[in-house]
Amino acid sequence: MTKAMTHEMSCDLEKAFEGISSLDKDDIALRATSYWDASPLEAAKLLLPKSTEEVSRILAACNAAGQTVVVQGGRTGCAGGAVSAAADVVLSLEKMNAVEEIDEIGQTVTVQSGVVLEALQSQVAARDLFLPLDLGARGSCMIGGNIATNAGGVNVIRYGMMRNLVLGLEAVLPDGRVISSMKRMLKDNSGYDLKQLFIGAEGTLGVITRAILKLEPRVAAHETALVSVASYDAVLALLALGKKRLGASLTSFELMWGDYYRAVAKGLGVRPPIADGHPYYVLIEIEAGDETGGGAGVQTVADRLMALLETAMADDLVTDGVLAQSEQERREIWRIRDDFEPILREKPVYLYDVSMPVQNMQDYIHAVEKGLARFGGGAVLHVFGHIGDGNLHLFVHPGPSHAGDDARARLAAEECVYHPLRGVEGSISAEHGIGREKKRWLGVSRSAEEIAVMKALKRTFDPKNILNPGVVFDL
Ligand SMILES: Cc1cc2nc3c(=O)[nH]c(=O)nc-3n(C[C@H](O)[C@H](O)[C@H](O)COP(=O)(O)OP(=O)(O)OC[C@H]3O[C@@H](n4cnc5c(N)ncnc54)[C@H](O)[C@@H]3O)c2cc1C
Repeated sequence: MTKAMTHEMSCDLEKAFEGISSLDKDDIALRATSYWDASPLEAAKLLLPKSTEEVSRILAACNAAGQTVVVQGGRTGCAGGAVSAAADVVLSLEKMNAVEEIDEIGQTVTVQSGVVLEALQSQVAARDLFLPLDLGARGSCMIGGNIATNAGGVNVIRYGMMRNLVLGLEAVLPDGRVISSMKRMLKDNSGYDLKQLFIGAEGTLGVITRAILKLEPRVAAHETALVSVASYDAVLALLALGKKRLGASLTSFELMWGDYYRAVAKGLGVRPPIADGHPYYVLIEIEAGDETGGGAGVQTVADRLMALLETAMADDLVTDGVLAQSEQERREIWRIRDDFEPILREKPVYLYDVSMPVQNMQDYIHAVEKGLARFGGGAVLHVFGHIGDGNLHLFVHPGPSHAGDDARARLAAEECVYHPLRGVEGSISAEHGIGREKKRWLGVSRSAEEIAVMKALKRTFDPKNILNPGVVFDL
């Protein structure tokens, strides 16, 4: 059990933190709680360690004092795992932002966990290599947060989730011990693969301080298409055709329901690449390697995308389509998929991140719509997702008649979104994690036995429950 906290640090703790960068109260309050919540961040202390040794010192001291610690990366997480309270020590990794080594032969990169994803993508690209992780929060999220949430993003269909990219990891346990498995081999079956425990654990088992990530050869070019589709069955047929014809070059198959597409294009004030009014829009992206040596008669990946679209048109799977002719056009297409800011303007709005077999998605969305209709009050649903990997994101506006009772409206919306998952082999979190916001629903996705084992692991790693307490589950 942690001690009842006062918001002032004890002298012992203050002494233990000496020499470690920190923010004073006023500067803490200048920070927003998270990307999603502009209210001032709360913390008894916000520490900015610059090394693994400093992280270790902080955790050892907090553990001895029973002081709760909340770990923060870029604070873009969608499940509230990094949200701190007034009595917490916040440990932010932002100053541990060195790219230590890019190994061009082994195609790996060694990083500290506070490196911002986009900065790492650019540094790696400058060496003619490619980091496959990419997601809309790239400008703020950090590698440690990406690992702690096992982030997905837009290239999962081709490269898998963050877990697939981590070769080595260093983490500090809640009592300050450092676990280092900074290995760069693909193959290492020497006993338990401990690093996997920290990936996706949302900072409940340890603080990730460094990692070695797998890189890929530079992608020579992308080919991007946006098509409109008249029915969900046609979306499924297009996905199957795309996987068959494009194979490993298919990197993204992103589906937007018509309402989402219209709302984002209108809100951003852009002319949509394809007129709105269609039931579905699919963004298909492929990557092309260096194909210059192919010679005449060799079909390039771009040719294969064109051939796919021609077949899809002929088979009535798509009703309209555009191919990006430049990087600028590619960005404009992606912007409608990525930049959902217009949907966030009307408050409150709740974001959900579910997964299920793609064949079940349309029935699932109908069940959610039915639930929301019963729930009444003019609730509005917007849906898009990385459906190539079975992942949907849902935005629910509870509607004007629920104004002023956010907690009730939120719970009612959660019931509409999560209950139908039981009937479709679904999960309450595809890639965002459980955080503090979804823990009451964990039993929808996990059996009682699984949850008991997770809790046993947490007790082993963090017997005093000081690190990210209340994230994933309450002990
Ligand atoms: C516009 C937008 C688009 C997004 N798109 C995607 C997407 O496509 N796919 C996807 O998966 N997510 C997406 N997200 C969610 C979010 O960006 C990811 O979850 C990201 O991986 C979080 O990184 P972060 O550094 O912001 O972590 P934070 O939000 O700071 O933390 C997230 C969790 O990880 C823990 N944590 C952070 N750093 C560490 C560390 N070093 N050691 C241990 N624990 C740590 C925190 O305590 C918390 O529990 C999106 C978010 C936004 C705002």
